[in-house]
Amino acid sequence: MQLNGIPASPGRAGGRVVRVADAPGEPPVGPVPTDPDTEAGRIGPAMELVSARLQARADAATGDAKDVLEATITMVGDPALLENAENLVREGRPAPRAVWEAANTFADMLAAMGGYMGERATDVRDVRDRIVAELQGLPAPGVADLAEPAVLVAADLAPADTAGLRPGVALALVTEQGGPTSHTAILARSLGIPAVVGCAGARELVAGGFVVVDGTTGAVEEVGSAEEAAVIVEAVDAVEWDGTGRTADGHLVPLLANVGDAEGAAAAAERRAQGVGLFRTELAFLSATEEPSEKRQREVYDGVLGAFAGKPVTARTLDAGADKPLPFLTLEGEPNPALGVRGLRIARVPGIGADVLERQLAGLAAAAKETGAELKVMAPMVATAEEARFFVQRCRAHGIGSAGVMIEIPAAVLVAREIMAEVDFVSVGTNDLAQYLFAADRQSGAVAALNDPWQPALLRLIRMLGEASAETGVPVGVCGEAAADPALAPVLVGLGVATLSMGSGALAAVGASLADLTLEQCRAMAAAACAAPDPITARQAAASTP
Ligand code: PEP
Ligand code: MG
Repeated sequence: MQLNGIPASPGRAGGRVVRVADAPGEPPVGPVPTDPDTEAGRIGPAMELVSARLQARADAATGDAKDVLEATITMVGDPALLENAENLVREGRPAPRAVWEAANTFADMLAAMGGYMGERATDVRDVRDRIVAELQGLPAPGVADLAEPAVLVAADLAPADTAGLRPGVALALVTEQGGPTSHTAILARSLGIPAVVGCAGARELVAGGFVVVDGTTGAVEEVGSAEEAAVIVEAVDAVEWDGTGRTADGHLVPLLANVGDAEGAAAAAERRAQGVGLFRTELAFLSATEEPSEKRQREVYDGVLGAFAGKPVTARTLDAGADKPLPFLTLEGEPNPALGVRGLRIARVPGIGADVLERQLAGLAAAAKETGAELKVMAPMVATAEEARFFVQRCRAHGIGSAGVMIEIPAAVLVAREIMAEVDFVSVGTNDLAQYLFAADRQSGAVAALNDPWQPALLRLIRMLGEASAETGVPVGVCGEAAADPALAPVLVGLGVATLSMGSGALAAVGASLADLTLEQCRAMAAAACAAPDPITARQAAASTP
């Protein structure tokens, strides 16, 4: 059988299929147990088993992952949870339903308390799912510890699950849901793990069987044996790039890297990134259940900035929300988190994000002093000039000389001149800008075609930003996935984009592509792509521009 999905992280790898189990759904209210005592007696041992499994994982883990697991174990061992669930069985619920209800009551109570206790609600729901799965004889939800290298197949993977994967052990990823700019796809790319997302039928792949996954073409092929699956082909052809982004006629376009931690920054420096254009600070803290301490934040910031002493590093303040929920910085119960209080909006909520922003800015400023990197800081999810002004003021209060905002919301493009009057630079997040422009969830494979960065409507928005930049003198960069496409990079430059930031694996190919073309050619390609009626024609039009 061959399946086809959306290519999300290049490279080809094969191996045995390990299925990542979904969380169990809500268990039915009935039937009423015939022997309530025996039914109630099943709950304690199930909790102990779940607890022992988590403990084994905690023993092997370090850092944030260990802290999360230990907090979760405390929840499994809670005697009140056991007692309430047992009582519910005696009132006539089957054991899985009783655990579901008891845990939900507990989680709702914690959520209502807010603050640190409110954040524990997520742990309780995780525990609930594990115990319910155990009682129903289903596999434990989430990514299991892999005993040997394997290809992971899932309905979907949370960014926190993906971030914890190790290349070489997780050989490749295949998910039924997900789009190419979802954070799971971005993380897979940065880890160098081949991935195919939005792959219909992935759930039919047999656990224990063998597949070959091609993250470059999107093909997932079932094969008969481990030998047939044992293919590992180089991801990208090596190309030459001298480490300075420029067009053939010498127009400079610094090529920067998107990173999330010190390891990624070191790899980017090795690949000759001219700086960091997007340091996604939230990625280091995806599994932290409380605000990371000053010391922990400094470790992460010093690690990234330290790899780029004397070079620009643009750190983005915590972009929490939607598909990147930070347990310590997420509002519970939002019906539509992608349109809710996320990004900079959380940083303006007193008692939740406001102090977190202050401490983060202080930590970043101190890291810049310590490492000698040229720090720039930008805010995510900015819609208005007033928000931009607020953010720049906060940065100045911490002595940060260069402050900017991301342009990810179409409204921000329409008031670009007003925003540019407040900031030192802007950076276009094409992943979210496309999502909000087309009302198309970037995590959904079904609407991936709308999130194609070659969509002329998206290119025309970027053209408006280029024009505003030329008028105001405030530089505009691109740090969304669009910048990593060697064919699109010249179009962006032709639209007036001054810097491009990308996963460091794309630097050489983008550098080589720009070096082949003059600025005039880039401009002609941009005009042709913008005038096209659809993404396919836009690609062709740019490619065939003389
Ligand atoms: C973007 O939205 O394009 C972006 C760069 O930010 P993120 O992918 O982290 O949302
Ligand atoms: Mg974004």
